[in-house]
Amino acid sequence: MTTLSRPGCLFCGIVSGDIPADVVLQDTQTVAFRDISPAAPTHVLVVPRDHHDDLAALSASDRDLTGALMAAATQVAALEGLTDGGYRVVLNTGVDGGQTVGHVHAHVLGGRSLTWPPG
Ligand code: 5GP
Ligand code: ZN
Repeated sequence: MTTLSRPGCLFCGIVSGDIPADVVLQDTQTVAFRDISPAAPTHVLVVPRDHHDDLAALSASDRDLTGALMAAATQVAALEGLTDGGYRVVLNTGVDGGQTVGHVHAHVLGGRSLTWPPG
């Protein structure tokens, strides 16, 4: 199986194993690893193995993979013991959304009470 990879992309590097990360879950379509700068006691990033710039690009080209990303996020939450207490899944998209890494990723945040709305 081939993976769509973008040279120079940080998260493609983590998917390929070239860049080290604390991986908590992986399957044929996705990889989940701890955020290097956690914003909550649990802060895991879930990425598709294939490179897509953001949620719009991913959902436009691969609905199955979009669903797999969401399913993996809920699996991570369960693995991290967040199911009962609750958690948040966030996909920052574009400049106003605060996206800083251009490979679509879902943040899974939990382990404390999270405020709303975001700043
Ligand atoms: P964004 O701001 O694009 O929604 O989220 C990017 C996330 O990637 C940030 O929360 C940031 O802390 C995390 N991040 C940036 N560089 C690295 C890295 O090299 N390794 C890991 N594990 N996380 C990273
Ligand atoms: Zn990438």
